[in-house]
Amino acid sequence: MHPMLVRKVLYPAYRALKRDDVLAYLANMHRVEVMEPEEIRKYQWEKLRKLLTCAARHVPYYREAFGRLGMAPEDIKNEADFAMLPVVRKQDMKTSPEAFISDVYPKNHLTPDATSGSTGESFYFHVGREARQAGSANTIRMNQWIDIAIGDKIALLWGTAFDMDKTRKFTNAMKLRLSNQIILSVYRMDESSMDEYVKRLKRFKPDLMAGYPSATAHFAQAIAEAGVEVFRPRAVVLSGETLYQWQREEIEKAFRTPAYNHYGCREFGAIARECKARNGLHIACERLLLEVVPSDLTGEDHDAGELLVTDLDSFGMPFIRYAIEDLGSITWEKCTCGLGLPRLKTAIGRTFDVVKAPNGNALGGTFWTFLFKRKKGIERFQVIQEELSKITMAITPTAEFSDETRQYILNKVREACGPDMRVRFELKPKLESTPAGKHRFVISRLGSRRASEDERSQV
Ligand SMILES: [Zn+2]
Repeated sequence: MHPMLVRKVLYPAYRALKRDDVLAYLANMHRVEVMEPEEIRKYQWEKLRKLLTCAARHVPYYREAFGRLGMAPEDIKNEADFAMLPVVRKQDMKTSPEAFISDVYPKNHLTPDATSGSTGESFYFHVGREARQAGSANTIRMNQWIDIAIGDKIALLWGTAFDMDKTRKFTNAMKLRLSNQIILSVYRMDESSMDEYVKRLKRFKPDLMAGYPSATAHFAQAIAEAGVEVFRPRAVVLSGETLYQWQREEIEKAFRTPAYNHYGCREFGAIARECKARNGLHIACERLLLEVVPSDLTGEDHDAGELLVTDLDSFGMPFIRYAIEDLGSITWEKCTCGLGLPRLKTAIGRTFDVVKAPNGNALGGTFWTFLFKRKKGIERFQVIQEELSKITMAITPTAEFSDETRQYILNKVREACGPDMRVRFELKPKLESTPAGKHRFVISRLGSRRASEDERSQV
């Protein structure tokens, strides 16, 4: 469908039919995103106060938390006061989900949702009307940062839902058509599928391509190896996994277009995205308040820590100081693009994507991908930590894999982790991926950090 038809006619008609406030949220974001940092903080703080007042009054978990602290929402005047509220972990919400749902929020405004969970265990939650609509507006706005407008054609390299019934399959297909999107499934990434994808992209001519970094880089490598020319979209957006520099380079080369890093999750939708300056990801502060708290998983980077998210629009089932299980750091330094929104600076990755070493070192995905990229003979890899002093290297080898490769890796690991780290190699034709089709380079099975994972972030 012609993008203009979607943008000017179908999309506004759809919103009017749904009688929602997505376009009003969008207008507000355009107003706030260019404010000075001080004004943005003030805006966030006003929204936070409103959320805390509602939560303390109507949400059992927070009624109790405020009671225990002997505090009222009005007593929370600064960041230090706010930090007295408990950090909420996924497990807390899993154990007693009812305690997190507001007594007075209209039930018909709550939409059930779930993460697919990388270990097969789903996390169920509810999204209120305000959070859902603000989330939709946020995605549109982030696309606008990179000149992608409502109705522009999008090709998604995602894991498609395969457990849907016929009706949902049909409505989903209609939705995709009306929003000018196609899905190329990451579950089929063999040679013939790739040929087919190249042809489909040529026919569809997407303005934007979006996908997981691992799958998109894999596709890019296949394109480069085959020496074929693929359709050139105006931009590629990468999300759902940590993006590594080498992946970005391979993707930009194959598609001959800039690639942007995007950070989001099932619970909140879009959280942060790179602007055209591509120097950190601007955080959607109108919707989300991010905090950085100290963590022993950040190694050398002292600015970084564990991220906590407060969804400022979540009145039905509030997410307040929620541990999203990611690591990063934030800067409020002004960006050259003119947006006043702060940026997420470091993307060390997920808290369970870090190997902890017996010598006290903490090694994120960047270390491992760099190590394996340096050596020929490795098609794909996965590092699995079972115990503090034991890791397994699962490798899909190519013909060039040799004892020398093995020794090289072993030496580098011992250098970084100390002599007590035991390393086991496992050569496999295929490596395990998550139910949503993501590839995880590092899997930590240490303690409680064996967490579930978001399914995917919509672009
Ligand atoms: Zn910027």
